[in-house]
Amino acid sequence: MTQANSSSEAGSGAQSGTQEYPNPDDAADVSLSRTPVLVVTPHPDDAESGAGATIVRWAAQGRKVVLVVCTNGDKGSSDPEMTSPKLAAIREEEQREAAEVMGVSEVVFLRHTDQHLRDTYELREQISRQIRIHTPDTVLTIDPNRPYIRHEDHYVCGRVTLNCVFPYARDRLAFPEHIAEGLQPHKTREVYMWGSLEPDTYLDVTDTFDVKLDALSRHRSQVGQGWELREVRARTRYAEVGKRIGVTYAEAFKRIEIF
Ligand SMILES: [Zn+2]
Repeated sequence: MTQANSSSEAGSGAQSGTQEYPNPDDAADVSLSRTPVLVVTPHPDDAESGAGATIVRWAAQGRKVVLVVCTNGDKGSSDPEMTSPKLAAIREEEQREAAEVMGVSEVVFLRHTDQHLRDTYELREQISRQIRIHTPDTVLTIDPNRPYIRHEDHYVCGRVTLNCVFPYARDRLAFPEHIAEGLQPHKTREVYMWGSLEPDTYLDVTDTFDVKLDALSRHRSQVGQGWELREVRARTRYAEVGKRIGVTYAEAFKRIEIF
C-alpha cells in the first residue's frame, strides 16, 4: 500500500531544504516541470500573501495553475456600511483580478461562508473532485499545523486538502460518484504548504516578487488602506526569507512528496 510521507522524515526520494537546495533552479523536482498545479486557499488573498510569487513563477514556466478558493471571505470588513453578500461579491471580483495578474488559468469558488469552513463530506468531495478533474502533480495549500492561535478556516483548508491528496482522490472507492461521472482516481506527486512553522524548501522568487505584490494589491477591500506600509513589510519579510538561500526574495514552504 502506497503511503504518504514527509520527504524529510522518509529520508529518501527528492530532498529539500536550504542545505539540499542551495540553488532551487538546480533542484530536480517536479516543480520545474510543466505539469498542472492545484492551489487550495482558505480565503481570497491567502494564496497571494503566502505563495503568490511562486504561483507566478510556476505559471510563467508554462504550468497550468488552478486556484480553488474555499470560502467567500464575507466577514473580512470593519466598514459599518458593508454587508456580507456585498463583500462576498467584491472579494470574488478581487480574486478573479488577482488570479489574472498571477497567470492563473482558472479559479474555482467553493463559496463556503467565511469563518464556517468545516471538515465535512461536502468539502472533502469538492476538493477531491478538483484534484481528479485537474490531475495536478503539485498541490499547493496552507500548512494546517499551527498550535494555539490560528484561523480555523486555515486549519480546515490545509488539513482537508492533505486528506484529499491522500487518500481520498487517490482511492477509487472514495467518492464513487466521481468514477460514475467519468473522473479517475488521481495520485498527486507533491504538496507545498505556505505558512509553515517548519519550512524545508525555499524558492527564489526575486523575478516574480513584484507581480505577487501587484496581485495582492488587487484585494483592495483587505489591503487598500495602508498599502504602502504593507508593501514595505512584505518586502522586508520576504527579503529575510531570501537571505536563507542568498537571493533577494524567496518564499518558504513545507514540502511533502507522495510515495
Ligand atoms: Zn485567510
